[in-house]
Amino acid sequence: MPVALVTGASRGIGAAIADALARDGFDVAVGYGSDAEGAQRTVAAVTAHGRRAVALQADVSVEDEAVGLVEAAEAELGPLDAVVLNAGITRDGLFMRISAEDWRAVIDTNLTGAFFVSRATVRGMLRRRSGTIVAVSSVVGLIGNPGQANYAAAKAGLIGMVKSLAKEVGPRGIRVNAVAPGYIATDMTAALSDDQREQVRTATPLGRLGTPEDVAGVVAFLCSPDAAFITGSVIRIDGGLGT
Ligand code: NAP
Repeated sequence: MPVALVTGASRGIGAAIADALARDGFDVAVGYGSDAEGAQRTVAAVTAHGRRAVALQADVSVEDEAVGLVEAAEAELGPLDAVVLNAGITRDGLFMRISAEDWRAVIDTNLTGAFFVSRATVRGMLRRRSGTIVAVSSVVGLIGNPGQANYAAAKAGLIGMVKSLAKEVGPRGIRVNAVAPGYIATDMTAALSDDQREQVRTATPLGRLGTPEDVAGVVAFLCSPDAAFITGSVIRIDGGLGT
């Protein structure tokens, strides 16, 4: 059975991705930062599809923990066929008010964490000459957003990393892609005011926020044989917001 690791899978988009991959036949390592209960719910969702799952705690922004996460996933479930770099945070603020701490926290988790996890994964994939990696970027990384310079920089950085890595490892049979979701209804966007929510709806041609499942289906597709000729791509899942 194919094996996947999804970081940030205790809730939101990551939990939906773990569920979709299990539906498609993957055993899933459920990475999480602090929400052990949420991670167990995701494990239950995966096992309900008849697949194996394990919850693994690690702060992806800490190199040893990120490496340990990949090693533990492979020890528990076997060599990784798919890795989804989904763990992420926001620390929003107007540019002139972003502290060095909030800048670093967002870059460390969203970008450097993805680097640590994918680097630890690629070694084995190169040996096996197969595997696929999907990074969860954001439409904000493509078009920018006032109040999110740190987050937009991290998400744009992910796209640069994905495209470079895709060129490096494509000849060895490894595919690397990104998705760029728009506004998705999760804890991350729960803080939006009604006014802000309405503004997002108005700016989105499809007239609604996305669901975690909207993102999960596309990520599962990218991890599937149907996407065998897709690498270095960024697929927007934003209801047309970034058009
Ligand atoms: P969420 O509900 O806030 O969940 C974030 C997940 O990331 C949680 O599982 C959390 O784990 C994990 N995480 C955070 N920091 C971590 C760290 N240092 N180490 C390990 N895990 C960590 O967010 P979401 O909305 O599902 O977002 C998931 C991804 O999609 C993020 O990369 C986000 O930037 C991206 N995205 C979201 C939207 C949106 O509108 N929601 C749009 C575009 C892109 P614990 O809870 O266990 O700590």
